[in-house]
Amino acid sequence: MQYPDPLETLNPQQREAATHGTGDSADDTRPLLVIAGAGSGKTNTLAHRVANLIRHGADPQRMMLLTFSRRAAQEMERRVGGVLQKALGLPGTQALPNLPWSGTFHALGARLLREYAPRIGLDETFTIHDRGDAEDLMGMVRHEIGFSDAKKRFPLKGTCLGIYSRVLNTREPLGLVLQSVYPWCTQWEEELKKLFGAYVEAKQQQNVLDYDDLLAFWADMMAEPALAQEVGARFDHLLVDEYQDTNKLQAEIILGLKPTGQGVTVVGDDAQSIYSFRGATVRNILDFPHQFTQPARIVTLERNYRSTQPILAASNAVIAAARERHAKNLFSDKAASQRAQLVLVPDEAQQARWVADHVLRQREGGTVLKSQAVLFRTSHHSAALELELARRNIPFVKFGGLKFLEASHVKDLMAVLRFAQNPRGRMAGFRVAQLVPGVGAATATRLLDAMGEASDPLQALQAFEPPSQAKEEWAQLASLYAKLQDPELAWPADMELAKAWYLPHLERLHDDAQVRKLDVEQLVRLAAGYGSRERFLTELTLDPPEVTSDQSGPPLRDEDYLVLSTIHSAKGQEWKAVHVLNVVDGCIPSDMSTGTTEELEEVRRLLYVAMTRAKEQLHLLVPQRFYVTQQSGGGDRHMYAGRTRFITEAMASHFEHVTWPEAIQVRPGPGAHPQAPLMQVRARSRAMWK
Ligand code: ATP
Ligand code: MG
Repeated sequence: MQYPDPLETLNPQQREAATHGTGDSADDTRPLLVIAGAGSGKTNTLAHRVANLIRHGADPQRMMLLTFSRRAAQEMERRVGGVLQKALGLPGTQALPNLPWSGTFHALGARLLREYAPRIGLDETFTIHDRGDAEDLMGMVRHEIGFSDAKKRFPLKGTCLGIYSRVLNTREPLGLVLQSVYPWCTQWEEELKKLFGAYVEAKQQQNVLDYDDLLAFWADMMAEPALAQEVGARFDHLLVDEYQDTNKLQAEIILGLKPTGQGVTVVGDDAQSIYSFRGATVRNILDFPHQFTQPARIVTLERNYRSTQPILAASNAVIAAARERHAKNLFSDKAASQRAQLVLVPDEAQQARWVADHVLRQREGGTVLKSQAVLFRTSHHSAALELELARRNIPFVKFGGLKFLEASHVKDLMAVLRFAQNPRGRMAGFRVAQLVPGVGAATATRLLDAMGEASDPLQALQAFEPPSQAKEEWAQLASLYAKLQDPELAWPADMELAKAWYLPHLERLHDDAQVRKLDVEQLVRLAAGYGSRERFLTELTLDPPEVTSDQSGPPLRDEDYLVLSTIHSAKGQEWKAVHVLNVVDGCIPSDMSTGTTEELEEVRRLLYVAMTRAKEQLHLLVPQRFYVTQQSGGGDRHMYAGRTRFITEAMASHFEHVTWPEAIQVRPGPGAHPQAPLMQVRARSRAMWK
């Protein structure tokens, strides 16, 4: 029986990309770049390419599929599986024969570094610090070397980590990073150098890596030609989605693995580059064609399959005003009469009400909650909406916000396991020791010092003399760690032991222990899904589960829920109906922005990313009164906002204007009104840095 060729669903350009290097162009070894606008099928084409390569005999285990999040990697695997099933006529449940190496650069970096640890001078039992731990360690080191004197106004630990991270990810010298991004810290250059040196030292002593190390060490490894060649030879194909948001290190990694570019495919859209604040650079995608020993083949896609014509026209108008970009002509065949809406509401509370009403109305009309999303610039902007949704019993899941793992009791239990995995990790040890009643910071430090000096740290833990009032409880902790050491212990039995030890402490420490226990149970359930303690700790740290409306960890697959997401976390996704909150000057762009051209341009792209998530309905909410948190003292205040400057009068015809409730006074948008109150606030926050 003849099965349909799944490539037939692709348009000619997509097919060209999906079949590059196979079939008719079998002798073409050039690297491949697909650069195209939102919704043009880049991710879909990449999935077809993977499936097509597999059909042509490529071994999935010799493919590296790099995506922007674990969720995106799973989605990609699902799509590839779907295409293969169609092509081979397999039953619906059959997955891929073998899974490719898929995940984020950070996750695959962790996997490779652990494998090659002995060869590159790392201890393979390293644990990974999330941003919170990394900040805390930076703070601790800063304190130890005497830079934390508040009067001296030395940068805060978060700022220090931000600077350190930027230097690492951009490969720019500290002085340059300070000048260009942290101009108010330039006077501290020497001290910062010393601090970062001590921070690196501390990480090494404690056998921990932070997020940045996962990329930096991987890139360093690739700078070693013999190793780069060895690792590169294990993979026939490297495929990267969302390439516009990669940084210098990531480009170095790709180039190091495949200097000729053979087998390298990247897809992306320069108009959607929104991570330069983290060191990503759109130069990567622009330089890609000429960085290998042979030039790249470039494919562009012009048909948008996602959005209706009016939504695409509005989005195109917004991005057309951008200063620098690859010109693209996107068109859509999806005719529709409904334009994108600009919805004027009095304030954020009414905004929440309008969105909740609208979401429910859509659901009654047959659009399930899962096909709808609410997007916003930063996580706290959904606070009013979350209350409103809770009041009306509308279930939701929030991406990019507070993570399940950030709750203190979840952190406690994770620390218990992390400390077992790596007894030299001081952040975990500090937390665990102080769970024992009668043990405070001083005792914990004494313990960690003793463990740090010992050749066998766990032996030192067993031999440690706690203060007399803590003796009995301490013995239980010591006994727990003796058990966790047992090589016969099979995961997730460690989790059960850790939980059994932790629960009495949870009950003692928290009045709402009953509620918190649900999270502990959730964590235990999650643990069962991982093959080993190390896998569990690594993967959860790199990709923490999200918070749901009932606060009980990740949602179940078949439940219906509304998606709340920061725009950054909504990358690559699509929904039938999309609502974007606070599309006002003061938020998009933010009032805190330094107002540099590059920064403003990035926010314009952010708005473009938000708008292009919508398939059929797009609602941009414009609250007339908007709450701002002021950086430079003076507390929070309301201000009157106009709609975002990125939607000008000239673009007004692309939008349907809705005012709710109908009687409110409409304040003019930009163009007519010079945004006077805003300028003041911006000037004040800028002055702080002078
Ligand atoms: P983004 O820039 O937002 O990441 P993208 O370019 O990766 O977008 P996809 O997510 O791959 O775009 O595709 C957008 C939508 O168009 C998806 O629903 C996808 O299934 C659909 N699509 C892509 N190509 C085709 C095609 N040839 N025929 C029909 N539908 C398609
Ligand atoms: Mg995509």
